[in-house]
Amino acid sequence: MSTLSIHNPATGELVISLPADDAEAVAAKAAAARAAQPAWAALPLKQRAACIRKFREGVLRDLEQLASTMTRETGKPIKMSRNELNGLLPRIDFFLAETEAATAAETVHEEGGMREQIEHAPLGVVANISAWNYPWFVGCNVILPALLTGNAVLYKPSEFSTLTGLEIARLLHEAGVPRDVMVCLVGGGEVGAALLEQKVDGVFFTGSHATGQRIAQAVGQRFVRLQLELGGKDPTYVCEDADPQAAAESLADGAMYNTGQSCCSVERIYVHEKIHDAFVEAFVKTVQGMKRGDPMNEETYIGAITRAPQLDVLESQVEDAIAKGAVLRTGGERRIDEGNWFDATVLTNVDHTMEVMREESFGPVIGIQKVGGDEEAVKLMNDTRYGLTAGVYTRDEQRAKRILSQVRAGSVYWNCCDRVSPRLPWSGVGDSGVGLTLSKYGIQAFTRPKAWHLRAA
Ligand code: NAD
Repeated sequence: MSTLSIHNPATGELVISLPADDAEAVAAKAAAARAAQPAWAALPLKQRAACIRKFREGVLRDLEQLASTMTRETGKPIKMSRNELNGLLPRIDFFLAETEAATAAETVHEEGGMREQIEHAPLGVVANISAWNYPWFVGCNVILPALLTGNAVLYKPSEFSTLTGLEIARLLHEAGVPRDVMVCLVGGGEVGAALLEQKVDGVFFTGSHATGQRIAQAVGQRFVRLQLELGGKDPTYVCEDADPQAAAESLADGAMYNTGQSCCSVERIYVHEKIHDAFVEAFVKTVQGMKRGDPMNEETYIGAITRAPQLDVLESQVEDAIAKGAVLRTGGERRIDEGNWFDATVLTNVDHTMEVMREESFGPVIGIQKVGGDEEAVKLMNDTRYGLTAGVYTRDEQRAKRILSQVRAGSVYWNCCDRVSPRLPWSGVGDSGVGLTLSKYGIQAFTRPKAWHLRAA
C-alpha cells in the first residue's frame, strides 16, 4: 500500500505517514459517491443546512486543535491559522443564509396556460482538487455550497494540508453528512489525476497555473463544468496623494501575510516618484519589524515556506533581480537551517525584465518600482498574463475608479488589499483562471439551470 508522509515545514520533522489512496480505491469511492448522491439531493435544503450548521459548531468547538494541526503541516503562524478558522465562520453563515434564495426555482413567464420555470439542479458528483495555503477557505468555498445544493463531493486536499482535509471531512461526517457524500482522498498529484479519470460532473480546482493546464487538458474532451482558481502577480499602485506611511504598513501586510503564500498577496508595487522614497523607507521598516520564527509562537508573523521547492524559485528571483540592477533593501537569504525558511525580502529599482515582477513569487519577496504617473502605472499593472487582484492607494475615489476600471483583474481594491469577501465573486482573468467561487454566483456554480415548460392538462 502506498503512503503519504507529512513533514513539518518549520522543522523538517516527520509528523505522520498515512495510508494513501490508489487508483482502485479512488474508483470505488467515486462509485459510492455516485450511488449516494441522489438521496442527498432529495433531502429538503433545511436538512442539508442543519448538517452544515452542526459542522460550524464543530469548527468552533475544536478551533484550537484545528489551528495547531494546520500550523504543524503548513508552517502557517498560529495566529493566522486561528484567523483563517474564525474567518471561515462568516463564510459558513453566508452560504447558510443565501443558498435558498440563490437556488430557488424561478417562474419566468406565464401565458395561455403555459408556465416557464428555471430550476437550479445539482451538478451531481463534483471533484474538488485543492491547494494548501488556505486549506479551510479554498476547501470549504467548494465543499459547502456543493453540499448545500445537493451534490456529492470527492475532495482531494493538497498533500501539504492533508490532515486539515481529513479534519474537514471528519467534522462534516460528525455533523450528519453521509460518508459517501463527502469523501476525502489522500495522496499527491497522482491521486488527483486518478480522480479526474472518474465519471464526475464538475471539476473545481485551486492551485498553480501549471497544474491547472494539466487538469484542463485531462477533462477538456468531457464537457463537464470546469473551474480553475489559479495564481496571480497582483499589482498595487500608490499615488502621490496617498499617505506613504499608512500605505506602506497596509501593503507590507498584504505582501507578507501568510509568509507571502496567498493567491491574492500583493506581488508588485508601483509608487509615484513624488513619494517613492518615503514609501520605501516606511515599507522596509515595517517589514524589518515582522517577527520570524517558530510558527507555534504567538508573536510570529513570518512562518515557514510550506513547499521546499519554492525556496529555489524565491532564491532565483532575487538573484535574477540583483543581477539586472535591483537594490536589495532587506532580506534576500534562504536560511540553511532545518525546515524551509526564507527572509522577508524587499527589492527596489526593479523593472519588468526581472522575473520577480513577472512570475508569481508565492513567498515573502516583493519588488517596488518607481513610476511617473497613472498612465505608466496602468500599463505596468496590465503587463502580465495573470489577473487575480489589483489595487490603488489614493485619497481620490474617482481617480481610483478611473485607474481600476482599466486594469484586467477579477477583484480590485481601493485603499485596501489581500481581501476576500463571501458576498463578492472570487475569480481570475487570463492565466489566473476561469469560473468563480463565493457570492450568490459561487453557489449557483454547483447547479445547472434546468428549463421546465409546464402546461396543465
Ligand atoms: P499545485 O498546482 O501544486 O497543487 C494543487 C493541487 O493539485 C494539489 O492537491 C495537488 O496534489 C493536485 N495535483 C497536482 N498535480 C495534479 C495532476 N496532474 N492532476 C490532478 N491533480 C494534481 O498548487 P499548490 O502548490 O497546492 O497551490 C499554490 C498555487 O495555488 C499558487 O499558484 C496560488 O496562487 C494558487 N491559489 C489560487 C487561489 C485562488 O483562489 N485563485 C487560492 C489559493 C491558491
